[in-house]
Amino acid sequence: MLAMNFRGPQRVRIDHKPMPEILHPEDAIVRVTRTCICGSDLHLYNGNVPDTRVGMTFGHEFIGVIEEIGSEVTNVKVGDTVIVPFNIACGRCAFCKQELYGNCHESNAQATAVGGIFGYSHTAGGYEGGQAEYVRVPYANFGPTVVPDWMDHDDAVLLTDVVPTGYQAAEMGGIQPGDTVVVFGAGPVGIMAAKCAWLFGAGRVIVIDHVDYRLEFVKNFAHCEVYNFKELEDPVVFIKKTTDSLGADVCIDAVGAEAAGNAMNTLTGRKMLLQGGSTTALHWAINSVKKGGVVSIVGVYGPTDSLVPIGNVVNKGITIRANQAAVKRLLPRLIEHIKNGVLDPKQMITHRVPLEEIADAYHIFSEKLDNCIKPVLIP
Ligand code: NAD
Ligand code: ZN
Repeated sequence: MLAMNFRGPQRVRIDHKPMPEILHPEDAIVRVTRTCICGSDLHLYNGNVPDTRVGMTFGHEFIGVIEEIGSEVTNVKVGDTVIVPFNIACGRCAFCKQELYGNCHESNAQATAVGGIFGYSHTAGGYEGGQAEYVRVPYANFGPTVVPDWMDHDDAVLLTDVVPTGYQAAEMGGIQPGDTVVVFGAGPVGIMAAKCAWLFGAGRVIVIDHVDYRLEFVKNFAHCEVYNFKELEDPVVFIKKTTDSLGADVCIDAVGAEAAGNAMNTLTGRKMLLQGGSTTALHWAINSVKKGGVVSIVGVYGPTDSLVPIGNVVNKGITIRANQAAVKRLLPRLIEHIKNGVLDPKQMITHRVPLEEIADAYHIFSEKLDNCIKPVLIP
């Protein structure tokens, strides 16, 4: 079969790989019909996630048709088209019982923090990903969810990650009616977080990025205020000014390591040339939230990144909430929101390309060329 093959930082290509096989009675094999590239893949692509091995296939956002099932799979059947959550979760461990499906213990028992994730390095279990024609899906009785008949498959593929992640970012913010919510990052996750902030009763939503076409998109899509941080003297001062010097009620970090000045390229050993030091989105979030406010972090960081100005957190009495999104927990309500027209995520899809053109797609998405917001690959 054809599959994405990671060759080293910023080098990906399509190769022939052996077909995946059922390795456990609860496995399924899925023939991928749509798969996306995510901002999280860019951390791998840039070599910033430990133990990202050459030869690995990335891809944690995919839908497809069940081709084969293990002897104990009863929840889905051959021929079903399924949404596959990016978290690999058993559904029965101590953490899954608390609906912490991003922190499943069984799918990645070696890890101290994250559960298993498709195509996300050996720190997330070493599972092969879905940027391929076929993929093995473990715990198929739990994760895969049948795509409703009426649903557009472009919406379905976005339910594997960015819609639930944006929603959970807003949910973790504990938004109260009338709150001012600031979202850092206007990628697909930040765009969905801004849209979902209104569902929790926000009174004002502000999005900050430095890519103008993304800001323009989110302004229309989520009806929010947008600012390019390069045009602001200091985003923290600006947010204070526009909130009667109190600060925002809730700040959401939908950027992650991209803005972390001390990130190290684990494959090349070089420090990454990023925006640097204390002017990261996370610092901005902590420094511009009000006293007693909430900072919600869905941006992904490396296991050893330590970027939190803890003194300000303590002295301001800030609550920090963070996690990988628990996709399976959120699917029922998000499917309803799409059905009722409350959410229309497929508008974010700007590029639809054959899987064979994956190298170009990574380049365009990573460099923010051609007004790219979300690329979908079609095997
Ligand atoms: P993306 O790369 O498309 O978007 C990130 C955006 O942040 C870009 O538009 C970039 O210009 C902007 N940005 C960079 N520095 C900034 C700064 N200092 N202030 C404000 N904006 C800045 O990625 P995405 O797909 O939208 O994902 C966003 C983050 O969410 C990534 O870190 C990704 O790994 C993470 N993520 C987390 C989860 C989860 O479950 N927690 C799931 C999916 C993605
Ligand atoms: Zn993703």
